[in-house]
Amino acid sequence: MKHEYYLSVMIQIPDTEKGTRIMRLTPARCNIWVVTRNDRTIIVDTGISFDRSRIEHALERKGLIPEAVILTHTHFDHAGNAAWLQAEYGAEVVVQEAESAMLATGDMPIPNGTYTFTRGLVGIGRKMQPVFRYDPCVAEHVFTDQFDLNRFGINGFIIHTPGHSPGGATVVIDDEIAIAGDSVIGTMPGSPFPPFADDVPLLLTSWKKIIGTGCRSFLPGHGKQVSREEMINEYEKRK
Ligand SMILES: [Zn+2]
Repeated sequence: MKHEYYLSVMIQIPDTEKGTRIMRLTPARCNIWVVTRNDRTIIVDTGISFDRSRIEHALERKGLIPEAVILTHTHFDHAGNAAWLQAEYGAEVVVQEAESAMLATGDMPIPNGTYTFTRGLVGIGRKMQPVFRYDPCVAEHVFTDQFDLNRFGINGFIIHTPGHSPGGATVVIDDEIAIAGDSVIGTMPGSPFPPFADDVPLLLTSWKKIIGTGCRSFLPGHGKQVSREEMINEYEKRK
């Protein structure tokens, strides 16, 4: 059944108090977040090319057309459909300055492991580096410290949160929900600290910033959402 490959669902998390809807498009190689308010839509992170038909299917069923694509960073599993969404829907791509050049080449080095087993995985991964290439994309918007999302009808902003990668970014919606990319992980039992990071001390500085947004919920690059309490507990252990 060919059609099965196209099946995807959008799992809705509770709307923010101001009425912004956030949905997780799944299955996909990373968490793809569709954020929508008053018929205006943005997408945060994009998966790999294999996820393309699922994205198309999910958007079509909901009648949503993304105006913007926000990249929390440009690793292959997050940036793989940026160029396609730009071409297909006319979505404007937003990326932090430190990774705009890598996005434009479609070649982003993978980060260091932060646990023993992930350090081993990185060794294997780096030998397969060409596999991690993706369609290059020239972003319409390149920001340094902060980027306002109101131009796309979304009450929110993006902040620079490096550490997992140099151009790491966190999207803050209605001062309530933070979409943190791989700065936060929801797949490891007992810890939301990511298993891969270029620079751990820098990432901890970014964690302080992410917690400092006052958000109550944190949406990771992979896995399930993380509570404010879990973030603070982990930060206190590591700082
Ligand atoms: Zn990553």
